[in-house]
This record gives sequence, C-alpha cells and structure tokens, in this order.
Amino acid sequence: MSHDPRTVSPSTYAVTAGRPPRTIGAAVNPPIVLSSTYVSEREPRPGDLMYARADTETWGPFEEALAGLEGSRHPALVFGSGMAAIAAALSLIPHGGRLVMPRHAYQVALGYARDLAERSQVELTHVDIDDTPAVVAALGGDRPASMLWIESPTNPMLEVADIPALTAAAHAAGALVAVDNTFATPLVQRPLEHGVDVVVHSVTKYLAGHSDVVLGAALADDDDLHTRLHAYRTTHGAIAGPFEVWLALRGLRTLALRVERAQASAAELAHRLSTHPAVLEVRHPSLPDDPGHARAAAQMDGFGSIIGVRPRGGADAADAVVSALRLWVPATSLGGVESSLERRRRFATESPTVPEDLLRLSVGIEHVDDLWADLDAALRSAVPID
Ligand code: PLP
Repeated sequence: MSHDPRTVSPSTYAVTAGRPPRTIGAAVNPPIVLSSTYVSEREPRPGDLMYARADTETWGPFEEALAGLEGSRHPALVFGSGMAAIAAALSLIPHGGRLVMPRHAYQVALGYARDLAERSQVELTHVDIDDTPAVVAALGGDRPASMLWIESPTNPMLEVADIPALTAAAHAAGALVAVDNTFATPLVQRPLEHGVDVVVHSVTKYLAGHSDVVLGAALADDDDLHTRLHAYRTTHGAIAGPFEVWLALRGLRTLALRVERAQASAAELAHRLSTHPAVLEVRHPSLPDDPGHARAAAQMDGFGSIIGVRPRGGADAADAVVSALRLWVPATSLGGVESSLERRRRFATESPTVPEDLLRLSVGIEHVDDLWADLDAALRSAVPID
C-alpha cells in the first residue's frame, strides 16, 4: 500500500508505492496478470477493467508510483516505449499548429517532428532552448505557438532550459508545454510543479534502470489532457507488456540509490575530466563554469549523470577512446546500472550542430575510481598528449 507522496520523501515513496494491501499472507509485490480480457457484461462503469489495450492491473502500481513521484493527480500512462509516449504528447497539437522545439533533443523525437512538419500536420520552429529570450520570442508572433517542447538537460548537448520562465511565457502565448524528463528523473526535476502540462519519459532509461526493458510514460495533471492521452494510447495501441511494466516497478524501487550514486560519480568524473590533458571540453551542469550550472542549481535537486566530453584530436580520437575502454560499455541508450558511452555523430541523423567529436557518457553505479582508471587509460592511449 502506498504512503501519501506528500508526507514521505520521494526515495521512500519509490519503495512503498504500488504495493498490494498489507494483509497477512499477502504478497508484498503486485502480481503480473496475463489476460487480454476481463469478465464483464452490460454497460461498463468508470474504472472497470474490460480489455487490456485500455488498462490492466499490472500497469496500475507503476502508474501510481510514477504519478506520486512526478506530483500528478492522475496516474501516469505507460506506453510501449518513450517514443510512443512522445508521439502521444505531440498528438495534442491541433492540426497545423506551431510546435517550438529545441534544436538539440533526442534525435528520433526531432525526426518525428520533422516528419509531422513535412506532412503539414504541424509547423516547426527550432530554438536554442537555453536562450530564454529567443524561445520567448519564438512562442509569440503572428502565429503563436500551440506547443513548446522542452528537454532539459538536452540530449546530447546538456543545455539547461529555464523551465518556470519558459512555461509562463508559453502559457501567456496560449501554448501547451511538454517536458521530456528522461535525463533528470522525477527525483531530480518535477516539471508539473512548474506548471508544465505534460511530462514524458523514456522509462527504458533511469526509471527501469537495468537496460532490460523498452518502455515509456506520459503524465498530465489536467483532466482533459489526461483523458486525451489515455484515449490516444487506447486507439493507437502502443501499449506496454505486463512483464516490462513489472520490471520497471522493480527498477523504480532502487531509483534513489542509483541516481544518488550515479550523480555523485558523474560530478566527480566531470571535475577530473575538466583538467585532463587529453580533453578539449567537458559538459556537465555540476561544473561551476558550465553554462547550465546556475539554472540547474536553481531548478533541479542534482545535476544528472550524463556527461559530454570532447577529447582532443577530433572524431577519430573520440572513436579510439570508445574502442580503448574496457569497463565502460560502447552502446547507445543510457541510464542503466552499467556505465556506457557513444559518439553521437556516428548517427547520420544526429543534429549537425552537435560536435563530431562529442562523446555522451552515461555514468552507472560502478565504483568511481574504476570508472576513472578506465577512462583515464583510454584517453591517454587514444589521444597523443604532448
Ligand atoms: N527521450 C530521450 C531523452 C531519450 O534519450 C530517448 C531514447 O534514447 C527517448 C526519449 C526515446 O525513448 P525509447 O527509446 O524508450 O523509445
């Protein structure tokens, strides 16, 4: 049984939420129920389980737990992937409406928005999301925006958006605000508290946390938006499998421990990298001279555990660093217990303004000194240092 998320700390809530009632002999974990349909007759009442494309009791505990962590009145809505949740959120834009979106964001989300624009479903305006006056200007004009999309920190450039200021400006222009909160997690950043309308997650990443699940979620506090997102999920059918959602809830139990450890290690590694002779540039909001530092300190309860590193010697040197590592896993995705990295521009579809030599590091929960030893050795072997 859940405690009230307002009376216990989020790390406690992540452990207690979505448990079955505490009765003698009851299981402490919710069951996985494998059923596509439910016994029913006559006109259904609100909340009745009918058919597993609409709702299932295996989704409920995770949806309740994530809603409590994000501070949503309505349960989260799980989707088959983060992209399915993003597609649902973008469906809230009226036909032909204008979407203001960061230049740097998850590349498949950017590609989907471009695709919508090419089919005249939306009009697309790109902005540098950390340039508040430019975003505010882009929201207004002759054709005010219908939706502002925010990623913060952005993937992979780690720009930090001023979420409260941008949300106020978007609402003044009559636009909805959606935030992809994947990089921060609700333990570090709760956009709904700043008045944001929709939050989406790639649950695949930190929330599930073990690189064994692909899953997404969307949350909205507003009754109408929640109903529309729920209807979109039921109609488009990008639903989650019961086992994946059960695994995600299991992952959520240790979210606080994993995030705490990974963030502390990321800040330490970013600090050490910032004086490494083989490194040209490091991006992590924990660094006092990082452009996003002050803003992140003001609106986040931490700085996240993704680091951007540009080794000296360009893209070839960056590739050589990836190949030389023995502990860090060369892989796409992020947010698992294992540390991983990739050079983002290896994808032809990555934004051309992302530097060719940028490595995106996802810091896991291994011992920081082991991570450093591997990184330091790879940098020294791959980059000629004079
Ligand atoms: N949002 C961000 C910030 C991501 O990094 C990703 C995937 O890498 C997604 C959304 C998409 O999530 P999924 O892969 O679960 O569809």
